[in-house]
Amino acid sequence: MTPHRVRAVLASGLSLAVLAGCSGGSGGAVPTDEPQGAPSEAAPSEGNPSEGGSPTASASTPVVNDPVEPDLELAVSTPCEDSVYPDVGDPRVDALHYDLDLRWRPRAQRLTGRAVITFRATRTAPRFQLDLGAPLTVRGATLDGEPVRVVRRGKDLVLRAPIAEDERYELAIDYDGTPEPAPAPTTRSDFSETGFTVTRTGEVWTMQEPYGAYTWYPVNDQPSDKALYDITVHAPPRWTGIANGELTALTTDEGGTTTSWQLDEPASSYLTTLAIGDYEWSSNTADSGLRVDYWTPRGMDRPLDSIKTAAATVDWVEDRLGDYPFDSLGLVVTDSQSAMETQTMITLGTNDYVLSPQVVAHEVVHQWYGDQVSPSDWRDVWLNEGMTMLLQWTYEDEHGIRPLRQSLRSARAADQQLRDQYGPPGAYDPRQFGGSNIYWTPALMWNELREELGDDEFYAVARSWLADNDNTSASREQVYDHWEDETGRELSAFFDAWITGDRTPEPGVPQG
Ligand SMILES: [Zn+2]
Repeated sequence: MTPHRVRAVLASGLSLAVLAGCSGGSGGAVPTDEPQGAPSEAAPSEGNPSEGGSPTASASTPVVNDPVEPDLELAVSTPCEDSVYPDVGDPRVDALHYDLDLRWRPRAQRLTGRAVITFRATRTAPRFQLDLGAPLTVRGATLDGEPVRVVRRGKDLVLRAPIAEDERYELAIDYDGTPEPAPAPTTRSDFSETGFTVTRTGEVWTMQEPYGAYTWYPVNDQPSDKALYDITVHAPPRWTGIANGELTALTTDEGGTTTSWQLDEPASSYLTTLAIGDYEWSSNTADSGLRVDYWTPRGMDRPLDSIKTAAATVDWVEDRLGDYPFDSLGLVVTDSQSAMETQTMITLGTNDYVLSPQVVAHEVVHQWYGDQVSPSDWRDVWLNEGMTMLLQWTYEDEHGIRPLRQSLRSARAADQQLRDQYGPPGAYDPRQFGGSNIYWTPALMWNELREELGDDEFYAVARSWLADNDNTSASREQVYDHWEDETGRELSAFFDAWITGDRTPEPGVPQG
């Protein structure tokens, strides 16, 4: 998720005002601490031939790839009850694959869905549960083809059927209704709800960190349970449904447009996306040959140059974090005021800030830190945001947007107040999800380590963490152990002080 824009206000002593990034429409103040506009050297060259041989930037026919057979073994995980948001998810369920078929009727405001969920039971139990928004009505459910009794308690969808440890099951659920977004556990000004969101014109977008996928499909909505996805979307005529992964089917008839999407590497549910609207497609290509797709509102009045930096940014990130971890990358522009690193299909809002090259860079970096390796528990969301923020600051420095030393200085000046206001980044107030404490504080920490080790060793260890934990969800203990093992240094006191301490640590990395 993008950091929301922050303006430091120097009054008597230091106070900090956290403001929305909205630059138009909703009355948000226009922050003044960062220069506007795209960095000139980051503009991508348009007109590169795309991987599939289609022409490019202005072309209008998206590339469709054949689906592959999902490898369910990639999605075997160890779900755990979340320590920050325990009301969401069920650790008895290890979802392996979600096959979703979704139809959206904007005039009726009606979503009709069928979800076929292949899962592994992690223990023997008389029942299990998923999350599904209360406004959605279950019309039928079967487990391995047999009808199964469903009990609803708010968003809890309890399935009264015995399951046995390590056995695999196929659960099919038909449902429909008018989805409603979920209240977000945050005081951030760029979002107050998560999940399925309908615009004034009936278009749809979703962003759902730390939870809220359940507003549009039945799901084990916790970050420790990664799964594969096949998502088919039936959109009204002229509109297109966008989701994660590769586009594997695109058909149009008088009834509308049907698209199928396949995510063949596992994702946590907060990293899925769905956007339905009047979209045009274009693409450009990274030096590595990776085609980057852009799904933008037809006739969007903002220039695309700024978000088309994504392709060049992939090359920039690869120099530090290693090869791009997935087979596809796209960006979809929605009516949101935030930006989200949804896996292989980044979801962007529409204001100048969230369409800027540095926010695009932020979400691209997350494909490594956040998506390839995700936190297993929301107490460790700082694992995503700290490294990503340091890379964003570095990108800004190298692209003439803002000097790194200035970003570091502002963050250090604000750190104590952030700890006081939101808690330390690894023990934050659960009602303050996504405060600047989970971005700036761990970014400062990683920078201390980078300065101590030098870029070569620092990024080598940052890369090996990803390689060693590819496609998994991980904890702070694992990351601490990794850095200690790889550097041969005792770092636990250093990490603890930064991540759970009440006071901003002194500069430097203590020895021994
Ligand atoms: Zn982020």
